[in-house]
Amino acid sequence: MQIILLGAPGAGKGTVAKLLAKMDGAVHISTGDILRSEVNDRTSLGIEAKTYIDRGDLVPDSTIIGIIEQWLRQPNVVKTGFSFDGFPRTIPQAEALDALLVKLHIQLDLVANLDVPRNIILDRLATRRTCSNPSCQEIYNLKSNPPATDGTCRKCGSPVIQRADETVEAIMKRLDVYGEKTAPLIGYYAKKGLLVTIHETNTEGVANAIKKAIAMRR
Ligand code: ADP
Repeated sequence: MQIILLGAPGAGKGTVAKLLAKMDGAVHISTGDILRSEVNDRTSLGIEAKTYIDRGDLVPDSTIIGIIEQWLRQPNVVKTGFSFDGFPRTIPQAEALDALLVKLHIQLDLVANLDVPRNIILDRLATRRTCSNPSCQEIYNLKSNPPATDGTCRKCGSPVIQRADETVEAIMKRLDVYGEKTAPLIGYYAKKGLLVTIHETNTEGVANAIKKAIAMRR
């Protein structure tokens, strides 16, 4: 599968992408995870990105497009399939992706729009925790999927933390940025006939709906 996961912060893109990777082998490409790992390694990209991320703003389009091009140029990624999580996030990013896909002869199967009610999103973001190990970044939820009792990751044993951009102010800012810059992509991909909107909130339900929608299109 070669898909884009669209949806507000907290819609469940990362959790669904991780499940699809397990079920289907689709490489999970999360621009948020990639950026956090660069921030952790204090690379020049990470140092630039940190100021934007911490206040809930978007990192400049040109930076993000450079990252994506590097990923799509890996032959195994295209062969095994991929799911984009958190990319594209603006119309210029989507246009740049279109050009890149044409250049690399890649065709998208679909764009899954995870449509989750705002009250569920706010609750999820406030209770979300993330593994601090940059190469793991497993996602937890204090209510529905808690880390180990000593606050460590059940997968790799590293401390599980609340992200710096998960303060109430940064969450509100990210939701506003989503509405203004990312939500227009719903119309963009609907026009191209690629959009499938999914109202499920359960991870397995979303993954199965995506697989079914892809199968129906083939
Ligand atoms: P969420 O989906 O929960 O907002 P992400 O992990 O996808 O979290 O992104 C965290 C932050 O990383 C964003 O708020 C933004 O600063 C930056 N970021 C991630 N992806 C992009 C992108 N495609 N374009 C611009 N900035 C991005």
